[in-house]
Amino acid sequence: MKLAIIGTGYVGLVTGTCFADLGNEVVCADNDEKKIESLNNDDIPIYEPGLEELVRKNRRNNRLSFTADIKEAVKAAEVIFICVGTPPREDGSADLTGIEKVSRVIAENMDSYKLIVEKSTVPVETNRWVKDTINMFGKNSNKFDIASNPEFLRESTAIEDFMNPDRVVIGVESEKAEKILRELYEPLRTKIVVTNIKGAELIKHASNSFLATKISFINAISNICDKVGTDVNAVAEGIGLDPRINRRFLGAGIGFGGSCFPKDLKAFIHISERLGYPFDMLKEVQKINEMQKELAVSKITDMLWNLPDKIIGIWGLAFKPNTDDIRSAPSIDIIRRLIAAGAKIKAFDPAAMEKTRAELGDRIIYCKDAYDAARDADCVALMTEWNEFKEIDWQRLKSVMRQPVILDGRNIYDPEKMKDMGFRYAGIGRG
Ligand code: NAD
Repeated sequence: MKLAIIGTGYVGLVTGTCFADLGNEVVCADNDEKKIESLNNDDIPIYEPGLEELVRKNRRNNRLSFTADIKEAVKAAEVIFICVGTPPREDGSADLTGIEKVSRVIAENMDSYKLIVEKSTVPVETNRWVKDTINMFGKNSNKFDIASNPEFLRESTAIEDFMNPDRVVIGVESEKAEKILRELYEPLRTKIVVTNIKGAELIKHASNSFLATKISFINAISNICDKVGTDVNAVAEGIGLDPRINRRFLGAGIGFGGSCFPKDLKAFIHISERLGYPFDMLKEVQKINEMQKELAVSKITDMLWNLPDKIIGIWGLAFKPNTDDIRSAPSIDIIRRLIAAGAKIKAFDPAAMEKTRAELGDRIIYCKDAYDAARDADCVALMTEWNEFKEIDWQRLKSVMRQPVILDGRNIYDPEKMKDMGFRYAGIGRG
């Protein structure tokens, strides 16, 4: 099929590349001309394992191309995926101006039937606005369908997630749209959940809110564990082995971040309030998440006493391992709080140094590896559980630090072993 992907970020680039790899003819468009220029030079603007090779392969096979000319991309395609960003506004609602702009360009350049698919995460009922916009600005009386096809890929395993999804959700209101989308996803041989458009829009927000709730739930439990003196990892194991609950997303720590959970939670709270059902439980989920970041700072303070002029080595900046994404990363928030308290920060992340430099500039010292970040530090604080932080030479580490103090923000180390090796150790909810 001929596909246009509008918005070539994490979701658009992965979606476009994977669909090309499945044999479709894909044009990825974006209004960021620099990004398109890079992509046309095989220079991938994001860190995502396996993506670069797949982009190159499909460009060489002439199944994947990149353009800043959105009009041409629209004209050439039968199916158009909207994958632009939907960032939060001040009031927490989703900023849908990108969706509106793209809908208008689609309307003005439709020269034949088009299936327009919302893949960006949008509040329920956005499809109505997209449809109205297309009806209002559409020049020709060409027929079109709208569909919702929320994306569940995770950064760092995006290609695997796209190619082997647990399920594909499609929201449609015509048989034609359903047939096209079923055919497109057929090679993935996965369960396809078909519902109406509102249902599909809602599934994405409900899904992310549920996962965020699970994380805040175990973080709340971790605070009880700290108070009674037991280890939350064992508690999570004990409850997670119940298949109705499941161990995944029961990792206590410094909280969730990334470009989706915090934003989608805000948007869902906002839309439910607007619909007349204030979803207060989700406000508590947010509150617990904020408290975890402050908890990290207070645990460091408990171990170091006063923070002014203390040096803190930060291990990991990305919001999770195997990505360079620092959007809403707890590490950045915690670093800001530590700086405000007078501490000096040395940091290292295997992939997110460049993005952190763009965010924090010269307010912190950028280091070349884990040991460099720990040199002369009064405390090392692990923020992201990259594999390389699991293979530390502890004697070497101890010899470079000013004080052997560790805050394990992701509970990846064994507290007893750390103590035996002479470290002062604090985890999250480990008694
Ligand atoms: P992103 O910021 O990485 O990419 C968005 C792209 O859209 C950018 O390249 C931007 O230049 C482009 N864009 C913005 N306005 C445009 C316009 N008017 N015309 C053309 N291009 C335009 O964002 P992302 O992480 O890919 O997320 C996109 C959507 O998918 C969001 O709604 C997000 O919530 C959702 N989502 C993201 C993930 C994820 O893990 N990143 C997962 C599932 C769903």
